[in-house]
Amino acid sequence: MSLFETMKGVPVPKTEAERNELVVTEVANGFWDYHLSRRASIMRSLCGKSTLPTAIPLSAWGAKMEENLPKAPSYCPACARLAWPDREGGPGLVRWQKS
Ligand SMILES: [Zn+2]
Repeated sequence: MSLFETMKGVPVPKTEAERNELVVTEVANGFWDYHLSRRASIMRSLCGKSTLPTAIPLSAWGAKMEENLPKAPSYCPACARLAWPDREGGPGLVRWQKS
């Protein structure tokens, strides 16, 4: 199967807003180690790691998964600060869990 085939069904971003849209990605060699990427460069996270796309909606960022999993997922605090500086960067705000 070619790379093109595997990308079928993934909408190609057309507008600037779509290209800049945030998506949840996972490090290529990681295990439930989630980062954020722009749709236009989904293979690289905001913090510069190599990433793969996931099916996880952005709204699930930071959510706790089912409790019977062997490992809790981690959400990259660097990506969160880059994506949402107002929400994540200010003093006194709750920070994402550090891995
Ligand atoms: Zn990151």
